Amino acid sequence: MELRNNMTIVLQDVLKDKRRIAMGGHVRPDGDCVGSCMGLYLYLKEQFPQIHTDVYLEEVPEAYRMISGTDEVKTQIPEEGTYDLFICLDCGDVKRLGFSEPLFEKAGETLCIDHHISNEAFADYNYIVPDASSTSELIFTLLEKEKISKAVAEALYMGIVHDTGVFQYSCTSPETMEIAAELMRKGINGSEIIEKTYYEKTYIQNQILGRALLESMLIMDKRCIVSVIRQRSMRFFQAQPTDLEGIVSQLRQTKGVEVAIFLHEIEPQKFKVSLRSKGAVDVSVIAKHFGGGGHVRAAGVTMSGSSHDVINNITARIALQLDHSGEPEDK
Ligand code: 5GP
Ligand code: MN
Repeated sequence: MELRNNMTIVLQDVLKDKRRIAMGGHVRPDGDCVGSCMGLYLYLKEQFPQIHTDVYLEEVPEAYRMISGTDEVKTQIPEEGTYDLFICLDCGDVKRLGFSEPLFEKAGETLCIDHHISNEAFADYNYIVPDASSTSELIFTLLEKEKISKAVAEALYMGIVHDTGVFQYSCTSPETMEIAAELMRKGINGSEIIEKTYYEKTYIQNQILGRALLESMLIMDKRCIVSVIRQRSMRFFQAQPTDLEGIVSQLRQTKGVEVAIFLHEIEPQKFKVSLRSKGAVDVSVIAKHFGGGGHVRAAGVTMSGSSHDVINNITARIALQLDHSGEPEDK
């Protein structure tokens, strides 16, 4: 595994002499963000009860609330007080922390645990492994295996399940499967975690997915697929931004396409762009070019302008990569 950390993190050492610890994950928390935060939070509470630990996340999506401790998550930062250590999880850059960033800035020390290739190691201690399937997998490697409780195992398992697309994506390594096996031995109900947090969709989620699929278009000689969901559709279906999770992955499954582009209009002339690739195109480079980031096959960025402009700008960058790699292989 490629390591870009400035030290090999030993949790005991980083926690030494710390009395107050805060943890934070990225805006619009996904399964790995919630799983890694809750896994480490529960472990610290169980194994280091002398340390006061708080976890800060935007509202945890309903489906993930089956994970223990999610009802203790803080969605606002206190007006006063600082922490001895701030642990930033699953965040490719510090801005991705959103509302908890001031706590990071004020903390005595900072630690970043992450697997985004775009991460530039912005904390005092950085444990960044771009090859790791998920931040949850990295958390597992920091813990003493025999001290991992069932509740911690459930959280980490959920995180790994989400960032590997249920052990399907190429980031799933033999180590990932071994870690999943270790977690299963803690007595978790893996099938239920997969069903309830990954596959189960509300009626609204399925409706808006249907809309996105119906209105999708093949472009760039059918090598890309693009779909846009506008604010008026969100209002019509009474959908929340978290209801859009999974749409871009479904678009990518379209036979023949290399890249899926999904635009969610968050304000007039402003879009949250999600990119997914089958491998020929490195979408993290494209997202980073426009100020975002992510992984080779899954990345995101917020962009301004008309949907037309945004799509044109993105497809121009995709074309650069596809043209340089020659014709796509027959699949
Ligand atoms: P999604 O498309 O699901 O929002 O994000 C895909 C991946 O790209 C995730 O790993 C996410 O953390 C990352 N990502 C999404 N949006 C942004 C962004 O605006 N900035 C950065 N740095 N990363 C992003
Ligand atoms: Mn992740």
